Amino acid sequence: MRIFDPHIHMTSRTTDDYERMAAAGVRALVEPAFWLGQPRTSVGSFTDYFDALVGWEPFRASQFGIRHHATIALNPKEANDPRCADVLEVLPRYLEKDRVVAVGEIGYDSMTAEEETAFAAQLQLAIAHELPALVHTPHRDKARGTERSIKVVAESGIEPGRVAIDHLNEVTVRTVKESGCWAGFSIYPDTKMSPPRMVEILKEFGTDRVLVNSAADWGRSDPLLTRETADLMLAQGFTEDDVDLVFWRNPVEFYGQSGKLELEDDQAERGPLFEGNSILRGGS
Ligand SMILES: [Zn+2]
Repeated sequence: MRIFDPHIHMTSRTTDDYERMAAAGVRALVEPAFWLGQPRTSVGSFTDYFDALVGWEPFRASQFGIRHHATIALNPKEANDPRCADVLEVLPRYLEKDRVVAVGEIGYDSMTAEEETAFAAQLQLAIAHELPALVHTPHRDKARGTERSIKVVAESGIEPGRVAIDHLNEVTVRTVKESGCWAGFSIYPDTKMSPPRMVEILKEFGTDRVLVNSAADWGRSDPLLTRETADLMLAQGFTEDDVDLVFWRNPVEFYGQSGKLELEDDQAERGPLFEGNSILRGGS
């Protein structure tokens, strides 16, 4: 089984996680830029973070044969802080970098006017840099946040097939499917979306234009929930081809629209890539 996790915050994870992910079949991932818990107070702490997403993390991932890509943006939560507004000015130079495969995470947190301004401006950056966009939906008032997000996406003029609306659930999936955008789901250990609920959604809505991720970050989360969901799909009658579509070919198709995915041609055919490589074990 080969797995492409389309949304995972490896900055918050340990080297042991990379090793366990590789053993479970994760061969590629996308790490979206987001907030770090502790509020940032200057543009410099964003650029240091962005540099880590395009430099240090790909190196760390490569020790386990995992291809690391990033999405870059001013996240919705920090879009409300005037000290972070100038982050928008530095984004263009990051969006041109190798392995930056989308603008994101953008969207709403509390649905303020400041968030909407940053959201709309960054959709225009996605269009200008010919990149897809990854849209985070708010955890509070999700249905209204999702509907408003689809409206902002439609007004921007970006092609819906180049937009993924993420963190969906049973309530929001239908609107997103009807919009033509990709539907993203984040599987968590005990809240929001679980492997059994995800499999039920796949039975009802199908496997087309669906992205399933672990979203693992600094909160309670599990980078192996992609694999757990894939195993449950097989146990409930989906074929290996269905699993490969959801966990590999779909993310490759969505982020491939950037023209910047870096996957090996023969990656599918090989065994776990880390086996033949030297694995980074030390912290130095
Ligand atoms: Zn995220």
